[in-house]
Amino acid sequence: MKERLGLILLGPPGSGKGTQAKLLTEKYNIPQISTGDILREAVKQRTELGLKAKKFMNQGELVPDDVVVGIIEERLRKEDCERGFVLDGFPRNIEQAHALEGILKKLNSQITQTINLAVGEEELLKRLSGRRICRECGEGYHIIFNPPTNGGICNKCGGELYQREDDQEDTIKARLAVYAEQNAPLIKYYQGKGLLHRVEGKGSIQQIVERIITTIEGTRRDD
Ligand code: AMP
Repeated sequence: MKERLGLILLGPPGSGKGTQAKLLTEKYNIPQISTGDILREAVKQRTELGLKAKKFMNQGELVPDDVVVGIIEERLRKEDCERGFVLDGFPRNIEQAHALEGILKKLNSQITQTINLAVGEEELLKRLSGRRICRECGEGYHIIFNPPTNGGICNKCGGELYQREDDQEDTIKARLAVYAEQNAPLIKYYQGKGLLHRVEGKGSIQQIVERIITTIEGTRRDD
C-alpha cells in the first residue's frame, strides 16, 4: 500500500493551484481544501466569518491567522480527510505552517509533499486579470485562454460570469506583493523538511498535472 497523501500546493495567486488541486482530487480521490473557496462561500452567505473576512479579501490582504487556522482545523477533522487531502491556499505564512503541523500531529496525520508551482509575474497578471467565474456553479473561465462560448454566460449551467473583486489589477498587485513577502520563509521551511518540489507552472493544464503526478509518484513511500 502506498502512503496516504498529505499535499500542499504552493504558488502565487494565478499559478493554477485551484485548477491543479481539482485534478489531483479526481486522480487520488482525496478532498481539496481551499481556504479561499471556504472564505468566499462565507462572504456569499454573509456568515459572521464572512463579514470578518470580507474587508481583508477585498484589499488583497491576508485574513487573520486565527480565523483561517480555525477553518482548516475544522475541515481536516472531517472524515473524508482520512483518505488524505490536498491543501490549496493554505498555509500562506510561516505561522500558519507551524499551526498546521500542530493540527496534523493531533490528528495523527502529516504532509507528504509540498509542490511549489513556479510562474513568472507577467504571466500571472495576464492570467488573473482575465479570469471569470460562474456565479452559479463556480466554473472558471479566462477571456483569452478559455473563453465561454456565449459572452458572459457559463457553458455548463447558463449562469452569469463575474470577475472576483480581488482580480482587479490594483488588488492583484497587492496580492502578489503579499505573496512574495510571505512565501519565501515557507519555501525554506518545507525545503528544510525535505518535502519541497518545484514544478514548472507554465504549459497546458494537462502538462502541468502530469508533472505534479510524476513528482508525487517519484517521492511517494510505501506504508
Ligand atoms: P485565494 O482564492 O487562495 O487567492 O484567496 C483569496 C483571498 O482569501 C486571499 O487574498 C486572502 O484574503 C484570503 N485567504 C485565502 N487563504 C488564506 C490564508 N491561508 N490565510 C489568510 N488569508 C487567506
